Amino acid sequence: MTRCHDVRKQVLLACFFLAMPALVGCSANPVTGRRELILVSRDQEIAMGREAAPKFEQEFGGRVPNETLQRYVRSVGAKIAATSDWPVPHEYTLVASDVPNAFALPGGPVFITAGLVRRMTNERQLAAVLAHETAHVAARHSVKQMQKQMGAQLLVEIAGRIGGAEKGGAAADIAKIVATMGTLKYSRDYEYQADAVGIRYAARAGYNPWGMVELLTVLKNLAEREPGTFGEMFQTHPVSLKRVRQAEQILRSGAYARWSPTKRDPGEARFMRMRRLLEKMLKK
Ligand SMILES: [Zn+2]
Repeated sequence: MTRCHDVRKQVLLACFFLAMPALVGCSANPVTGRRELILVSRDQEIAMGREAAPKFEQEFGGRVPNETLQRYVRSVGAKIAATSDWPVPHEYTLVASDVPNAFALPGGPVFITAGLVRRMTNERQLAAVLAHETAHVAARHSVKQMQKQMGAQLLVEIAGRIGGAEKGGAAADIAKIVATMGTLKYSRDYEYQADAVGIRYAARAGYNPWGMVELLTVLKNLAEREPGTFGEMFQTHPVSLKRVRQAEQILRSGAYARWSPTKRDPGEARFMRMRRLLEKMLKK
């Protein structure tokens, strides 16, 4: 709270110059409930994510051109999105890159690569990835990180133009947003939080949350076996044994007692059908 007040003083000063006092305010984080200072509104956050999404899609090989696969990823994503603490228009897209990766943009767009789907073995693992990314969105991690990296003033200024009355931001503004989003590095704390909240979302959506431990184990083994295969996001924050252990600890804490780590995933056959379809498509 006190820290929030200190920042608030600085920002009030910044906003005096920008003449945008309406944007200033400590607000409760949708996930943690903690008061914190976020300078862009929900609508501006959504607008920034929307403007940046096509560039990211392109950068990761474009959408996988198969409606059955896209619908499948969207349907798992929609179940997760329905449990989120942050009401934004979530969108889940399968992109063609073979580099195992997943990422979320502010305000809702989530991408998962074909390279990651090909390395998973059931639907609850897919749900776990999407839940982890949805948790980043809900906890407003990217906006907070952008605020830090770009500087509060610049972010507020650009967000105001993109999310403001003018339809569609100027190309230069979008380029700045895209460049910053491309270099976002989440802190270790954000990663642990996204795992923990992801477990909550996956379970609320009816998925066995042990999928998170399975997923983290797949990623950890992959990083050990094939170092250098990973997308930047996993490289900067490698999946450590500590992350696997933390997820295990949460799942054994009592709140998730009804879920068994050994019970077979009922969505496994469906997932494997989709994975085979994806592999067939990629061979073409
Ligand atoms: Zn993450």
